[in-house]
Amino acid sequence: MPDFSVLLTHKAAEAIRKGAVWGQVVLKVSTPESIGAVVAISHGSGGRFPVDLDVPGHFLKSCDNKPWGYWYRVSAELHAHWLLARAQRAVVTVEGFRGLVGSGFQSPGGNAHLAITHVAGGQDKYSDLQLPEFALWRVSADGAEPLSIDVEPDVTGARALAPHWPVADLESARVLVVGCGSIGGAAARDLALAGVGRLDLVDPGRLRWRNLPRHICGPRHVGRLKVNALREDLTLLREQTEVRAHATDVVLEADKVRDLLQDTDIVLCAADGVVPRRVVSHLVRRAGVPAILACVLENGQVGELIRLRPWQGHGCLQCRRDALFAEGGMRPESMLAADYGTGSFHRPMTAVGSDLHLIGSFAAKVALATLLHDKGHHDQRIDAEHAVVALRPRPGWAPPYDVERAGSVRWMPGFPPRSGCPTCEPA
Ligand SMILES: [Zn+2]
Repeated sequence: MPDFSVLLTHKAAEAIRKGAVWGQVVLKVSTPESIGAVVAISHGSGGRFPVDLDVPGHFLKSCDNKPWGYWYRVSAELHAHWLLARAQRAVVTVEGFRGLVGSGFQSPGGNAHLAITHVAGGQDKYSDLQLPEFALWRVSADGAEPLSIDVEPDVTGARALAPHWPVADLESARVLVVGCGSIGGAAARDLALAGVGRLDLVDPGRLRWRNLPRHICGPRHVGRLKVNALREDLTLLREQTEVRAHATDVVLEADKVRDLLQDTDIVLCAADGVVPRRVVSHLVRRAGVPAILACVLENGQVGELIRLRPWQGHGCLQCRRDALFAEGGMRPESMLAADYGTGSFHRPMTAVGSDLHLIGSFAAKVALATLLHDKGHHDQRIDAEHAVVALRPRPGWAPPYDVERAGSVRWMPGFPPRSGCPTCEPA
């Protein structure tokens, strides 16, 4: 079991930075996990005030409050001792510890207590040591044992990746995800992880028992609308992403989706079946919004991504299919309607969750690259519009689905519109 450790919340750290020179500390402690979180402090012997965890669902919230420890403002030299004692698995004598505490030191007596120490201001002569601002100790009559403390940073989530990731460009991005099954769920999760500011989830379906082997949502959500289950999980994962749930059928309620497209930067369509994909292809073209269509074919043998651009010279989904067919290819859409299998009948092999998530993640990657490239990030350029990903390839498929090795990706250019296409060239 690792050493006992403490989480110092952002609020607690701020209160200590701005506080007096010492005070009391209350923790919530999980004994099995050997960790606690600071939930209340005082300044000197004054009243305690809450500095609680501001994290919904955090596991320590349900743990018991344990009374007292202390915090002290200390000389930087004590944190140099902390580093050294950690490295040598040694302790600092009580006298040595007390000598570097500004004031308020509480003698441990017969019991051990925890002490959080804080070094204010510059690091002076110890600057080359990179001294921690906060340190944790278990203080007993035998000495002060150095322990680890994890300070909640000012900024968490994808925002913490700035300036090495275009955080602002993604926070302002609005992505519509149509189809929240196994592929769409994984794609939505990746979009939230990347820091997309708003996700609109569109799916009228419920999470069924048969979805569980492949969906990113777990059994506690069985029976719920998929959009609500995902919204809850994604909000817990990345609270900075606004997730909006729409239990909307893209075919039967196309008008509602058309309205959402007025305020959408890109669509990621992972809907099952031929008709929803055609409807999305038509709606995005008319709305002038780019889209990524993602699916797997034939029980998960091959994944496919198609990027649709609302540009002259770029055809819609139907134009692409017709062009491929004219070149002697096959029409893969008919393979889309097939269920992956429910476990109630035999298939030689089936699509597995990890393969579907791979395609969902890939679709999210292409959606993010498209968004960022359109915002001027030229390193995100993809010089192709159509990808086939081999998941469990079988020989003998017609091009371009004749990918041979699991994991290989074949990229292809887009296709021009057919003349007279009612989507691309309406009368
Ligand atoms: Zn077309």
